[in-house]
Amino acid sequence: MSASLPGPESHAASVQLAGVRKAYDDGTVAVHGVDLTVHAGELVVLVGPSGCGKSTTLRMVAGLETISAGELTIGGRVVNDLPPADRDIAMVFQSYALYPHMSVRENMAFALKLRKLPTADIRARVEAAASTLGLTELLERRPRQLSGGQRQRVAIGRAIVREPSVFLFDEPLSNLDAALRSEMRREIGMLHRRLGATMLYVTHDQVEAMTLGDRIVVMNQGRVCQIDTPSGVYDRPADTFVARFLGSPPMNILAGSLERDGDRLSVRLDADPSHPVRLAEGSEAWRLPESGRVLLGVRPEQLALADGDGSMPATLELEEVLGHEELLHCRVGTVPVIVRGAAGPRHVVGEQVNLRCRSDRVHLFDEATGKTLRR
Ligand code: ADP
Repeated sequence: MSASLPGPESHAASVQLAGVRKAYDDGTVAVHGVDLTVHAGELVVLVGPSGCGKSTTLRMVAGLETISAGELTIGGRVVNDLPPADRDIAMVFQSYALYPHMSVRENMAFALKLRKLPTADIRARVEAAASTLGLTELLERRPRQLSGGQRQRVAIGRAIVREPSVFLFDEPLSNLDAALRSEMRREIGMLHRRLGATMLYVTHDQVEAMTLGDRIVVMNQGRVCQIDTPSGVYDRPADTFVARFLGSPPMNILAGSLERDGDRLSVRLDADPSHPVRLAEGSEAWRLPESGRVLLGVRPEQLALADGDGSMPATLELEEVLGHEELLHCRVGTVPVIVRGAAGPRHVVGEQVNLRCRSDRVHLFDEATGKTLRR
């Protein structure tokens, strides 16, 4: 790693979206109005399933799509109508988009040559970025002589040399195999810390989002569901969509009715009315719905096998042993429930088991809206 990399931290800019909306010409509303502030030097990840509007949002920031309504500010300047080249941003795509007939050096230098920077400056910037990214030995090669990971490094290098005030990444690792993806993910994380640059990063991969993001924006159907730190979205999901999108296997969700005994609350599950789940927190922790109908959310790691008394009877349908841990696929009544725990003695499919949940860690959602009931 080079110590002489020209640091863009001096001009890392904030990005602000206020009510930013996109309706395509055919009437598709891809983004319904996003409010988001990316602070200078922050790495924010937009994550959500395919088609939720994350690329459209990023492309509006880049200037590759027009903005239908709302205001986009970069570094305190409204840029809605500014062409991409004038926004002081650099974008890294999934499909590296390198010029095949140019060497790595020429690819990285290209934008700087267009800007007519002095040759010595271009050389210094390209070599510093190449050193940071481990590309020094490859500078004279053509893209076809590089592996996928090396090509993606060149694409990132091409962004770095421009010293933009904001980096935009659109699924940059999706073309790489799993091992390379996690290696490049760590490199991008380290690069972010070294450069202190503002980065907006789009992915459909929850692991990338959880490990890279200072904050995560979870999107679904063109709307923002939640903006929070990785632990915030995991521990305090705003709704059942976020709760199930982040975490693998996903959170178990069981419908039931609330019961009060003074300040103590329990949930009588439809799947097993005979063993109410007692909540650790009193009613002051929750906004209780009039209907009393709730969805109880329990992550697989918050369930464990127990002996009898007060626990939920379930049928074991499948055991998956993953070396150090195991997933038990069970059914409580008719509802599928997954338990994650340390690998233990093997079970027999069809076996009757009892499940206990850590009631201090459960989530409650309104059955009608799916929104969290946590105050
Ligand atoms: P994501 O990046 O989350 O997969 P996109 O932003 O690419 O989602 O797309 C959001 C929605 O907008 C999708 O329903 C998609 O089909 C639609 N869409 C994307 N591009 C266009 C376009 N050029 N014209 C019309 N609809 C589009």
